[in-house]
Amino acid sequence: MAIADVIEAARSEGRTVLTEVESKQVLLEAGIPVVPSRLARDAGEAVAAAAEAGYPVVLKIVSPDIPHKSDVGGVRVGLASAAEVEAAFAEIVAAAQKARPEARIHGVAVQRMAPVGAEVIVGLTKDPQFGPVIMFGLGGVFVEVLKDVAFRIVPLEPRDAAEMVREIKGYPVLEGVRGRPPADVAAIESLILGVSEFAEAHPEVAELDLNPVFVYPEGAVAVDARIVVA
Ligand code: ADP
Ligand code: MG
Repeated sequence: MAIADVIEAARSEGRTVLTEVESKQVLLEAGIPVVPSRLARDAGEAVAAAAEAGYPVVLKIVSPDIPHKSDVGGVRVGLASAAEVEAAFAEIVAAAQKARPEARIHGVAVQRMAPVGAEVIVGLTKDPQFGPVIMFGLGGVFVEVLKDVAFRIVPLEPRDAAEMVREIKGYPVLEGVRGRPPADVAAIESLILGVSEFAEAHPEVAELDLNPVFVYPEGAVAVDARIVVA
């Protein structure tokens, strides 16, 4: 589905928040590397989607009203069989309904389990003065506690992406520490530039969160995505 159609479908329901499934559809179309995810409305659809994605898989609650899926018990990783997927479907929906009784639930997203890599986050927000701004940081405590992040105003030149990756204090983590292989920094830069182009091409996008992006010795891929439109 084209980007405009996904956004239009959300708007027609009075939503500005795209679900992870919708956000990833849009980003795939834009050439930004994400782990594709498929919406399953019942356990049977989830098992079929898992077979297609290839085991092991990850299941996540799909609701425009639940921005932090793990907070409500809405994420299950490492599911290795149809029986596990069926059970996880029911558990995730029940946990989400219990935590957020008023939330609209579309179903459950099914996707392949990406191997663990170095975790980074890439975000886009709109500054009232500067317009779209891209944020980069390492995931988890680096961002939440240490606020170790870099910002640049859209549009970014390749040099801006290279600089922002290197200016965070945690950069040595990406160069490889304690026997861990170096992360593919060029892949991160290219992903950041892709987000910059995406923001330029789609001024209706108010926010974008890729959290986390897994980075490997070769390549990088976003496992979670969230887009908010104006
Ligand atoms: P949320 O941020 O809404 O709680 P995420 O989609 O980020 O949910 O999932 C929570 C965590 O689960 C991620 O930080 C990541 O560690 C792991 N995870 C999510 N999707 C995948 C995936 N496709 N492959 C591997 N790990 C995943
Ligand atoms: Mg996330």
